[in-house]
Amino acid sequence: MDVLDILRRQAGRFQCPRCGQSLADCQLEMVTHHDDQSLVKVTCAHCQDTRLIAVAFAAETETEAPVIDVRDEPGENLGVPISTDDVLDIRLALAGHTGDLKSLLP
Ligand SMILES: [Zn+2]
Repeated sequence: MDVLDILRRQAGRFQCPRCGQSLADCQLEMVTHHDDQSLVKVTCAHCQDTRLIAVAFAAETETEAPVIDVRDEPGENLGVPISTDDVLDIRLALAGHTGDLKSLLP
């Protein structure tokens, strides 16, 4: 499963939280990859805003659609169950994240 390819195909559904432009042309870069969890750096093509998103793929789903679990900043959407439908909601909105990479990791 190509995580970046999946994200690339869905990126156009999202807008940059900073400049509001489509992320269809954003740059995607794999930062870390462990088993079914990945940390991906997203750079907006318009304003060069950079965010990190944590992506987890659940293999037990009946469909081939991956479940994408984005670790949000505490206090925002925390604890909301991730469903298959949420694949469409990658939540590039780590918009409020001000910490470094380590603060995103368990
Ligand atoms: Zn932008």
